[in-house]
Amino acid sequence: MLEKVVIANRGEIALRILRACRELGVKTVAAHSEADRDLKHVRLADESVCIGPAASAASYLNVPAIISAAEVCGAQAIHPGYGFLAENADFAERVEHSGFIFVGPRPETIRLMGDKIAAIEAMKEADVPTVPGSDGPLTHDDQRTLKLAREIGYPVLVKAAGGGGGRGIRVVNSEPALLSTVSLTRTEAGAAFGNDTLYLEKFLENPRHIEFQVLADTHGNAIHLGERDCSMQRRHQKVIEEAPGPGITEEQRRRIGERCAEACRQIGYRGAGTFEFLFQDGEFYFIEMNTRVQVEHPITEMITSVDIVKEQLTIAGGEPLGYAQDDIQIRGHALECRINAEDPQTFLPCPGDITQLHTPGGPGVRIDTHLYSGYRVPPYYDSLICKMITHGETRAVAIARMRTALAEMVIDGIKTNISMHAEIMEDPKFQTGGMNIHYLESKLGL
Ligand code: ADP
Repeated sequence: MLEKVVIANRGEIALRILRACRELGVKTVAAHSEADRDLKHVRLADESVCIGPAASAASYLNVPAIISAAEVCGAQAIHPGYGFLAENADFAERVEHSGFIFVGPRPETIRLMGDKIAAIEAMKEADVPTVPGSDGPLTHDDQRTLKLAREIGYPVLVKAAGGGGGRGIRVVNSEPALLSTVSLTRTEAGAAFGNDTLYLEKFLENPRHIEFQVLADTHGNAIHLGERDCSMQRRHQKVIEEAPGPGITEEQRRRIGERCAEACRQIGYRGAGTFEFLFQDGEFYFIEMNTRVQVEHPITEMITSVDIVKEQLTIAGGEPLGYAQDDIQIRGHALECRINAEDPQTFLPCPGDITQLHTPGGPGVRIDTHLYSGYRVPPYYDSLICKMITHGETRAVAIARMRTALAEMVIDGIKTNISMHAEIMEDPKFQTGGMNIHYLESKLGL
């Protein structure tokens, strides 16, 4: 087992990792920026090291400083959390070359999944269903491109192989616009990602976002923990997530989940990961894999009782998975609302001092937050300040508990989007479940 781990992140996920370490008896080093001396996990960690100024580029993305922190403190491993360096293959490689354990997949795996065309190829080999598309990169042969798009059927998406964060993607509705869009996207992708490789994909008009959580160890074992529905999005950002996915059948869960676990075995995956799918008309289409722990991991923990972060740490320590597939039982339903420090009307970030904080409780309520009364939310980072998670025997119970919890929650001093979440909980269509990825924006009138 690991003895000491550097937490190279901040906010709620840093605290989450610290708690998992403590339960396992692993010592912690909080690697934090100058602006984050007052973070809760920095106060609670066994040791802390300042890795640079407030700006992320100088601290949470500062590779030499993070590796030095591990060296100075005699840690064996570095947990990257999510965001920042979590999916940076070069970072993972530098960590391993410096003699430390990266709590995550092998660098080669991160690199493979970061190349969308290569990732899709790897999925096809494991029989994971993918979106109909160009089966590889586009060439400069325009006739071939036109023919491929005709075969796929319009509308199609032009996608950059190296794209990310929703950039490098364009919709083409009909043939006259295809070649000019390809040429524009190619130029942009070359400039933005240093890689102008493009491919085509069928554009799905009204999909849901369904993703499968997996865990894999270094002994060849891989399991899935079922799916999450993350269709409630604004600007491709998840706002509310739930598990299991409304209407997803046991058979679909078993079939797709097993394909994901098999893909992990084939690529020698290590640690926690997520396979993201679009789901439309009863079919799943793989779009990408996230090679890290995700913001919404707690809802899966609530319905399976598996502690995903503890599993990440024990897997990194070389231990076999604590569970076989048959041990995994889905129980009840869980929801997560992402509470952001932002104006609920304009969505603009709203940092500042927390003057009062009252968190809800009771059966089936879990609050993952680094906030405390008197804490100052700094303006430099992501506006996520709290994850409110509820669990119940049924979806209706989970919603009722979320309503109650949102009504009890008091965060004074800054603006938050709690009122928006409360409104969504009252929405009849949300209560029905199974809305597609466009629903939230249309409801909010965006
Ligand atoms: P990124 O790496 O930039 O997040 P993704 O491939 O995950 O790129 O796509 C980003 C978003 O674009 C998805 O969450 C989905 O909403 C939309 N999208 C991607 N592929 C398709 C598709 N084939 N049809 C419809 N929407 C898509």
